[in-house]
Amino acid sequence: MLTPYTAGEQLKDKRYIKLNTNENPYPPSPRLKDLFGAFDESVLKFYPAPDAGVLREQIALCEGVGKENVFCGNGSDEVLFLSFAAFFDGTRPVCFADITYTFYEVYAKFFGVTANVVPLNGDFTVNLSEMAERDCAGYFIANPNAPTGVGIPLNEMERFIASVPEKIVIADEAYMDFYGESCVPLTKKYENLLVVKTFSKSYSLAGIRCGYAVGNAALVRGLFNMKDCMNSYPVDAVCEAVCVQALLDREYHEKTVALVVSERERLRRELLALGFTVPESKANFLFAGRAPVSAREIYLRLKEEGVLVRFWDKPLISDFCRITVGTREETDVLLKKLKKILT
Ligand SMILES: *Cc1c(COP(=O)(O)O)cnc(C)c1O
Repeated sequence: MLTPYTAGEQLKDKRYIKLNTNENPYPPSPRLKDLFGAFDESVLKFYPAPDAGVLREQIALCEGVGKENVFCGNGSDEVLFLSFAAFFDGTRPVCFADITYTFYEVYAKFFGVTANVVPLNGDFTVNLSEMAERDCAGYFIANPNAPTGVGIPLNEMERFIASVPEKIVIADEAYMDFYGESCVPLTKKYENLLVVKTFSKSYSLAGIRCGYAVGNAALVRGLFNMKDCMNSYPVDAVCEAVCVQALLDREYHEKTVALVVSERERLRRELLALGFTVPESKANFLFAGRAPVSAREIYLRLKEEGVLVRFWDKPLISDFCRITVGTREETDVLLKKLKKILT
């Protein structure tokens, strides 16, 4: 029996302040406004490049690697899916944390790969030393982790990667731009490392569906082989052009990331002052609980008040809500509603 991934609510019944699916509160680069008018019919009439070569070249420039080290897909979810297909044949388990991105478990079931699951430490940090001991063909490690937001410093990641040379380490860096400890430079040194990133979060482009992987050329070829057995053109022509422009506007990217990070720190201080337990987050969301008030109640009451946050009715995480960092104004509304709910 397959268990599909449950995406966050995308309700349209009224206007919500949407802090439930980790989208960026800021619009994408203003450069994109002019782009659509510039699409002539030839862009849409012909098939796009099957290898997304122009975008891969731009990503390679930004990441300081070669084009042959970059693979692009229809969202990083697809890149993760193809990684499963390419690197796990089901003869040995895959290892990941018990509290992490739930798609890893969904994909493991889909591909019939046994999951060797390692509990987080009590402080929500990932137990890398335990993971290194586990029997498996490789790892999925979200860094910063979701839904906790907790980050793993680069030196700890390197120590871990170096300690498991026979196993592939897939570092899912969907939120890394809000942290700044990317493992991408290590891909030149370790052949067992694949880093996966996305345009959905820090580039405000969740709607375009584009993600990419960086790793040594042999791993990237493995991904291309899988893609070419499934879909020749996962990255369409519009997507490719949009992402190239987004990468070229580095200044805007840095500015919006800095705004999200400073707002994250302010929201965390305010939540702590309201009595919440909030692990230190390196992502664009906070994982917040306030026993004895149940997280379900906070989620439902906020929804009534027009603010959506994410709540999972699942063991280990049902005492917490995951709150995406919004704009300053959205944070102010959220805090006002929380104070009302708590009194
Ligand atoms: C959002 C997210 C993704 C998926 O990103 P897309 O590129 O939109 O498919 C992957 N991994 C983690 C940990 C995420 O939170």
